[in-house]
Amino acid sequence: MADAKPTLPAPLVEALRRVRSAGVITGAGVSAESGVPTYRGKGGLYEEDESRIEALTGTTLRSDPDRTWRAVGDLARHAAGAVPNAAHFAIAEIERKVARFVLLTQNVDGLHQAAGSRNVIDIHGSITRTRCMACGAEGELSREELEAIHAAPRCAGCGGTLRPAAVLFGEMLPVEKVARMQRELLDDPPELVLVVGTSALFPYIVEPVLVARRARRLTVEVNPEPTVLSPVVGWFLEGSAAALVPEIAREIG
Ligand SMILES: [Zn+2]
Repeated sequence: MADAKPTLPAPLVEALRRVRSAGVITGAGVSAESGVPTYRGKGGLYEEDESRIEALTGTTLRSDPDRTWRAVGDLARHAAGAVPNAAHFAIAEIERKVARFVLLTQNVDGLHQAAGSRNVIDIHGSITRTRCMACGAEGELSREELEAIHAAPRCAGCGGTLRPAAVLFGEMLPVEKVARMQRELLDDPPELVLVVGTSALFPYIVEPVLVARRARRLTVEVNPEPTVLSPVVGWFLEGSAAALVPEIAREIG
């Protein structure tokens, strides 16, 4: 095959070729290209339905767990059949090409893991894992079970109510994952920090980029439109993650 016309700027390509460690940060935009609806924002599943957001809060979980689980089931039904796209696979490829790698994702759909990513900090947890609110036992639901859910499932051990092992709206981030993020992204920032498909409203998404920039690391953002991070990063690439991230992965190492 003839060489494709390069779409990345030449100085960026040159910098990517020297990269030996990478941190990638992803949000809903990556999964949106797989057909998983985003919660909020333009075209978001909950754009015009605040009651769905309310169903997915810690407060509702405690007062009416059936309602929370119906909303979780809705999410699973909307994402039914979603498979990893070229961006997910390219991020897994970056991990195989560098000596040190970490992926911090806000997504709860498991598509990064399905694409082969291994060192993943899923900061918001996963909607397929469960935890018993009475005895703490952890479990797993299949996609099929999740798509069929219309009420809170019960613990096989103690009969207690299960909760999704995910961070609901208004809940704290898990302490051990925040500590891992601190260790792997902030204490010694990777040579490349790549942000993909997130509108970057959360401080824990913005901070690793600021720290990397101050440490003079290579910082790259891929998003369909500019965000608060765009003026901060070394390179803002406007466009589709499924088109641009494979280009970046190809040039690394
Ligand atoms: Zn239990």
